Amino acid sequence: MSDDAEVQSRPGLVVALDGPASSGKSSVGAAAAVALGYRFCDTGLLYRAVTWLAVQRGIGESDPAGLVQLVGSVQLLADDGGRLAHVAIDGEDVTDAVRGPDVDAAVSAVSRVPEVRAALLERQRRIASAGRIIMAGRDIGTVVLPNADLKLYLDATAEERARRRAEERGLASDGPEAAEILEQLRRRDVIDSTRPVAPLRAAPDAVHLQTDGNEFERTVRLVVDAVQHREAELAGSGVNVTATPAQPAVPPRPTQPRAAPGRRQRRPIEPTPIAAFLNPLILFGSFVLRVVVRLFTRVRIEGDLAAIPRAGSVLIAANHASNADPVLIGAFLNPRLGRPMNWLGKREVFEWPVLSWLVRQAGVHPVDRGAADVEAFRSAMRILEAGHVLAVFPEGTRSPDGRLQAAKDGVAVLALRSGATVVPIGVGDSDRLWPKGRLLPRFTPSVTVTIGAPFRLNEALAAEDPEAAQDRRRAKEAGTVLIMRRIAALLPERQRGIYGGSPPS
Ligand code: C5P
Repeated sequence: MSDDAEVQSRPGLVVALDGPASSGKSSVGAAAAVALGYRFCDTGLLYRAVTWLAVQRGIGESDPAGLVQLVGSVQLLADDGGRLAHVAIDGEDVTDAVRGPDVDAAVSAVSRVPEVRAALLERQRRIASAGRIIMAGRDIGTVVLPNADLKLYLDATAEERARRRAEERGLASDGPEAAEILEQLRRRDVIDSTRPVAPLRAAPDAVHLQTDGNEFERTVRLVVDAVQHREAELAGSGVNVTATPAQPAVPPRPTQPRAAPGRRQRRPIEPTPIAAFLNPLILFGSFVLRVVVRLFTRVRIEGDLAAIPRAGSVLIAANHASNADPVLIGAFLNPRLGRPMNWLGKREVFEWPVLSWLVRQAGVHPVDRGAADVEAFRSAMRILEAGHVLAVFPEGTRSPDGRLQAAKDGVAVLALRSGATVVPIGVGDSDRLWPKGRLLPRFTPSVTVTIGAPFRLNEALAAEDPEAAQDRRRAKEAGTVLIMRRIAALLPERQRGIYGGSPPS
């Protein structure tokens, strides 16, 4: 049976099990799955098999297309219990080979290639979609299955993990080979946790299991208990735990609003492909818009543009006081960033033939306001999970007077779930250039686009408000305020509105 085979679905949870190299995810996860009657999937095997093939064929991380081509040859193999703990290449079981030291040395470099991760993402979600599974990896709780029923993060010090790995290989724990294992584990930890796309990181809502000094059986017991406890919790809360896909493998589908009573059913709108590369059309369009804007005002760009990551998911969050804001941010920053931004836009815009084509080229994704939250959230997560740039206006709509208004929680939920780097941007005085309610812009001495320091919301929250960071509901409220205050700090005082006051650290 292969990983693409249909799996009989039975009641059960989707469990994400993440952690660093040699933290015991594969062995503990597989044993816990047996005890629970769950399926198990070791996603590390996918990355290992691609790496093994790449080493054989001399393909390096500088050739993403070559690496992606290898993905099709790799298949996980299921045993009778549905455990995907074996991997085959072109039908041949290579599980032992891919666990060798040559793959250990190269796998993190291959795994950080965004194209490789993107090629494996849907495959992993498809496997999980039948439910009742423990899926082990590095980014399962943060990227692959952000809606998992339970997220566990298995951890141990590098020394403890190296000692276990040396023992597994029958080596003395104080010999030179053990020292080399420790060195290599540390190298892999650094690469896995600092890569821009889907880095190794505990999801903010993950249960952390520190396993130093634990007997293997004790750690298995902890995992089994955590799953059973969560099963009982969900059953008690009336949630149906019958093989609910944690993250259904939803292909982008046309935006089709549910027909409200008395409301005419509208034509479905095709989704916009994610803007991933700066094509000549975006560059030319940005140039034209810059020329037009400069007829009306001088645009100053301030802050550290170079600090914005050039790869990996980035969530740009800006204030919204004018129709000029997306132009001031997109047309002026896209070319300097070297990558395009994606935006969410109301679906009405997509009903006009020429306009619709233009906004699609500009990376705008249609969102139905009637079903806004769900639709917008899905599109936004799709963009961030694929490692691209998404720009949002957390206030949702333009401010009537240029001052910051209360923001919606969506931006914080996106930042927390995706783990994206958040870049706050303050657009100062755009309300004077083109105020809400005015048909055309007017001449204004200058507007300023100020770029704030990038940060990760879960880390910033843990530092500023550790208690809120521990609680899912409070985290999204506190996270929203944190993001908005960082935007406010980039604005002229008159525009800071309800997020003014003492500046954030
Ligand atoms: O778990 P294991 O050590 O077998 O994983 C091998 C490597 O595969 C990791 O060091 C990491 O670079 C990569 N990996 C990943 N994402 C996953 C699973 C593994 O990047 N979900």
